[in-house]
Amino acid sequence: MNRLEGKKAIITGGTRGIGRAIAARYVEHGANVIIVGTNEERGAEAREFLKGHRINPEQTVEFRKLDVANHEAVAEFGKEVSERWGGVDIIVNCAGITRDNLMIKIKEADWDTVLDTNLKSVYNMSHVFLRGMIKNRAGKIINITSVVGIMGNPGQVNYAASKSGMIGLTKSLAKEVASRNISINCIAPGFIETDMTGQLNEAQKESILKQVPMGRLGSTKEIAHAALFLASEESNYITGQVITVDGGMTA
Ligand code: NDP
Repeated sequence: MNRLEGKKAIITGGTRGIGRAIAARYVEHGANVIIVGTNEERGAEAREFLKGHRINPEQTVEFRKLDVANHEAVAEFGKEVSERWGGVDIIVNCAGITRDNLMIKIKEADWDTVLDTNLKSVYNMSHVFLRGMIKNRAGKIINITSVVGIMGNPGQVNYAASKSGMIGLTKSLAKEVASRNISINCIAPGFIETDMTGQLNEAQKESILKQVPMGRLGSTKEIAHAALFLASEESNYITGQVITVDGGMTA
């Protein structure tokens, strides 16, 4: 069954890791996708990878180089895509970064970059694409937060603040637009094997695994399954929720 046949989806951070796995799942289910990232080379590579997942040669797979933290640039992108596509059905806000440090050592620039990339980006994207969704009386927004935004984590105050902020934004916006048939939910991954967790040293990985009842890191596919469900009609009565996919960390 092609659960997203003909749907138009934008996946920020879709050029690698979790975002790319979500984009692949959507393409396999018939969606047209635009993936967003800042690195042109990685974007072109991901576009080719995703084309290989198409079930119909007419499906669109595009890469857009864009800094999601830049309000004007996102507004321009939104205007162009909305005109060309006549609206967007699914938005996955997955672009994210870390600049880890202890609170007393976090530089202002590292606070701002993390908050702008992880949280302001969700405002930027929602602000520009929501109008079309309201007009169409349909839409799905999926925000990729983190268990760190629920539980906290020492050394990640800026990251945790951005991820908790996403949850508050999601719950409030869900209530604002529920009557327009738009659903907005979060997925909170635990520790997933990607470039982001690849930066951790062995001692950090070992200490993380002690917190995971399943005793292993998750895979990007395991997040993509949840993202497919939240984008499909099967989740139509679910809004304002946080689905944790974390091997039992927050159980
Ligand atoms: P990666 O570091 O592998 O990928 C990050 C993605 O975000 C890349 O596609 C990157 O594109 C894009 N990106 C970063 N900054 C910007 C920007 N300013 N504008 C546009 N795109 C940008 O991360 P993961 O796949 O590991 O994580 C994806 C999301 O999941 C993040 O939000 C992260 O916080 C969250 N998460 C991850 C967990 C994990 O264990 N991996 C756990 C919990 C949550 P480019 O390279 O082109 O800049």
